[in-house]
This record gives sequence, structure tokens and C-alpha cells, in this order.
Amino acid sequence: MIAGAGVVGLGTALLLCGDGHEVTVLERDAGAPPAGAAEIWAAWPRKGVSQFRLPHFFLARYGRLLDSELPEVKKALAAAGAVRINPVLNAPEALRGPARDEDDRFECISGRRCVVEAAVASVAGRVPRLEIRRGAAVAGLVTGPSARGGVPHVAGVRLDTGEEITADLVVDMTGRRSSLPRWLEAIGARAPRDELDDCGFIYYGRHFRSADGRIPAAQGGFLTHLGTISALTLPADNGTWSVTLVTSARDKALRPLRDPAIWARAVRSLPLVAHWLDGQPIDDRVMVMAGIEDRHRNLMVDGTAVATGVVAVGDAWACTNPTVGRGVSLGMLQAVLLRDTIAGTGLDDPWEFACSFHHATAETVEPWYRDTRAGDRHRLAEIDALIGGGEYRPADPGWELGHALANAAVKDPDCLRAFVSVVMLLSRATDVAARPGLLGKITALGGEWRDEPIPAPGRARLLSIVNGAEEES
Ligand SMILES: Cc1cc2nc3c(=O)[nH]c(=O)nc-3n(C[C@H](O)[C@H](O)[C@H](O)COP(=O)(O)OP(=O)(O)OC[C@H]3O[C@@H](n4cnc5c(N)ncnc54)[C@H](O)[C@@H]3O)c2cc1C
Repeated sequence: MIAGAGVVGLGTALLLCGDGHEVTVLERDAGAPPAGAAEIWAAWPRKGVSQFRLPHFFLARYGRLLDSELPEVKKALAAAGAVRINPVLNAPEALRGPARDEDDRFECISGRRCVVEAAVASVAGRVPRLEIRRGAAVAGLVTGPSARGGVPHVAGVRLDTGEEITADLVVDMTGRRSSLPRWLEAIGARAPRDELDDCGFIYYGRHFRSADGRIPAAQGGFLTHLGTISALTLPADNGTWSVTLVTSARDKALRPLRDPAIWARAVRSLPLVAHWLDGQPIDDRVMVMAGIEDRHRNLMVDGTAVATGVVAVGDAWACTNPTVGRGVSLGMLQAVLLRDTIAGTGLDDPWEFACSFHHATAETVEPWYRDTRAGDRHRLAEIDALIGGGEYRPADPGWELGHALANAAVKDPDCLRAFVSVVMLLSRATDVAARPGLLGKITALGGEWRDEPIPAPGRARLLSIVNGAEEES
């Protein structure tokens, strides 16, 4: 049983059904997706996912996973008008060099979050052995006989109507705001170990559509760090795209960015980004989301599972700064592990299963979470330092390497591919750096990244643009 029919929850359900399991998905929001991208965007109420209409991009890792595990979802995405982008092959040939056999793996298939989720839901809706109950809110856990002395065993869930549903395994996929700790407390379990960072990012984003279905050409990457703000420009489905400014939630001076005119003024001041405003806005305001912290939940505390019969997957397990667009790919990586752990260990021994899944997650998915969190902490500290007029020079070779790689990527075809590979969650930066000869190249070509000019107004000018004291030039 899966609690939560988000984009990863449904993908997980498809993987489990594909392995012969009967799966029930319980979703609190009542509405099913309407037909057609325009209707989905305008009229699918999804209160349960705060970021439902905020900019998303689906990385190449997600695309590769769909190729190998869920090709029917990839077909549904294409049919729904998802955009296909290959950040290496789309780069000028003078930069990328001749196409290579490996280049296909960089292809992404992406779209607005709601359109992608509807495509996954359309496939899930056709699968035998998969029941999706919308309007079914999980309110607590139901216990059965303990599989290990003193450790509660979860045998199902209770809905807010009082109905109880039993299951061999309960998979919490209720997202960033999962209530699992409260549910566990209510059955007498020890508290899971949550790591929650104290400050996160804030998003100011808008979606656009072109009259002729064309999407603006990228000048640089999807994500550019421009001093105290970052800009995200994300192509999406059916001739739509999004533009987002991201900063630290602590940066109160930039709060006026929630005003559409001020937001547009700030975007127009960014030479690499301004042309992305050339379209018709399709949302009626700047979409703002704050409180986007990194959070990791561990159901194994001091070597002991807090409960058996229940696991947390997707954002319910861990969520990170979405600017780097990793949430769905990481969630689906973990979903594959869940399927494979069930196949390998079975569910007959709930304790063994809990331990196996915990170890598999810690070994395979958690390192990506740690990398992402480290990058987030650095970026937030960098923003703080820049606001204070200083420079950010942490004694962390990983931070230096990441910036040097980004800088070298626009100078060399191997570095470009290595960079895209890291950004698209296909390789970790440490693995890329271990490739023969690459670290030397990255350092030689990109090591002086601090000397590169930043194509954006400095902090003082940004503030005067935001405050209306100066029009952007
Ligand atoms: C601003 C923002 C931008 C993002 N951009 C990207 C991006 O570009 N690329 C990317 O890969 N990721 C991105 N992410 C992360 C991505 O949105 C998540 O990783 C993804 O939604 C996780 O999917 P999920 O299925 O685990 O959870 P969710 O999508 O959050 O779904 C949880 C579901 O559980 C339901 N639910 C909640 N409580 C209950 C209950 N008690 N009973 C039953 N159902 C319940 C909710 O209604 C919801 O449908 C972004 C996140 C944010 C905040």
C-alpha cells in the first residue's frame, strides 16, 4: 500500500505492479487529472502538493530510468507534449565537438510538473492490480503482531473516515510534509531521526507560453548562479517554459520579488535570462514558495528500526533544494531499490526487509542526498557572505571542484560532458574527477572561476532595481 499519489508515488506503484504486486495507492486529494495539458494546468486541484504549479525540470537520470523501467510512461509523456532536450547535443558544435555515442544518455524529457504527473497517472490508471483511491486521507497506522521484540509492526493504515486497510507493506510517500513521525508516535514507536536544516531557499517563478510553440534558446545552463540570486530557465511541454529567481529565505530585501512588475524588472536586468520573458504569462501572479529546507528521515535509529512494515520513500524520506531538480530522479532511484529489495529479501521477515531496505537506501541513494545537501549549505552560506559584502572561500575541495567544472564546461567537450553528467544526476562529481586526466583539465581550464565576470547586476544595483530606484538597463 502506498500513501500518496504524487509523481514519485505513482511511479513507485507502477514499478511494484510491474513486479507482480497488488498495489493500492491512497491519495488525500480527491480530483483525478482532467484530459489535456491546458485543462490539467488550469483545473486540476492539487492542494496536497504545494509545488504542483511551480517550475520543475525532469533530469536525464529520470529519462534513463523511464527508458529502462517504465517505457510506457515515456511514451505517455511524449504524447502529452513533453519537451525533449539534450543539453550536450544542443550546445554549439564548436563547444561540444562531434557527437559521441554516449551523448544520447544526456537526453531529458520534461514538462510542467502537473502535466508530467498526469501522464504518469494516465499510465497508472490502466494497470491491472493497481488501485488508486483519490479522496482517501491516511490518518494513522494500524499495527499487527510484532516481528521483533518491542518494535511495533505496521499492518496497514487507518483513513480519516475510520476505515482500516491492511497491507503487507505500507510505503509512506506523502511528500515533504509527511506526518509519519506523528503516526509512529501514536503506535508507540520510537521517533525516527530527522535531520532538518534551519534555513532554505525561496522560489519566485512564473510560467510562459509562446504564440508559435517555440521555446527561447538557452544562453548558458538551465541554472545560473548570479551573485545573491540564482536564475532557473526551464523548457517545458507544449511550447511553455518557466523562469524562476531563487534566493535564500533569509534574504528579506528581495521579498518584493513577489510583485510581478518588480520580478519582471529584476529578470530583465539579467542579460542571459531577459529573453525568456518574451512570451505570454500563463499564471496570474509570481508563484512563491518558501520553507524549502533539506530534510532527511531515518527510520533506523542506533541500528534498530523504529517500526517494521513501513518505509518512507521519495520526499517523505528526504527532500532537498529543488533548484537542482533532483527530487523526482532521487525518489525514483529509491523506488527501484524498494522494488529490488522486495524481490531480493521478500516481506516474510519484516525485520530483515526493514534492515535491507535501509542499508540499500543508505548505500545507493543517500550519497546523492548528501552531495546535494552539501551544495545547498554552501550556496546558502555563499549568499549570506555576498549579502554581507564578503567573499565565500570555504575549505572544501568539493565546492571548488564543482565551480571549476562548471567553468571548464564552456571551454572543453570532455568537461562539458562531465559537467552535464553531474548536473543530470548520471555521475557524482567525485567519480567524474577520478576519470583519467580529467581533474587536471578541470583545474587548468576552470580553476580560476572566481575571476570570471558574473553576467548580472551587483548586489547594490539589484537592490535598487528591486526597490524601483533604478530601471534596469
Ligand atoms: C518549488 C519546488 C520545485 C521543485 N522542482 C523540482 C524539479 O525541477 N525537478 C525535480 O525532480 N524535483 C523537483 N522538486 C521536488 C519534487 O517536487 C518532489 O521530489 C516530488 O514531488 C516528490 O514526489 P513524491 O511523490 O515523493 O511526493 P509529492 O509529490 O509531494 O506527493 C505527495 C502526495 O501525498 C499526498 N498526501 C499527503 N498527505 C496524505 C495523507 N495523509 N494521505 C494520503 N495522501 C496524502 C499529497 O496530496 C500528494 O499527492 C521541486 C520541489 C519544490 C518544492
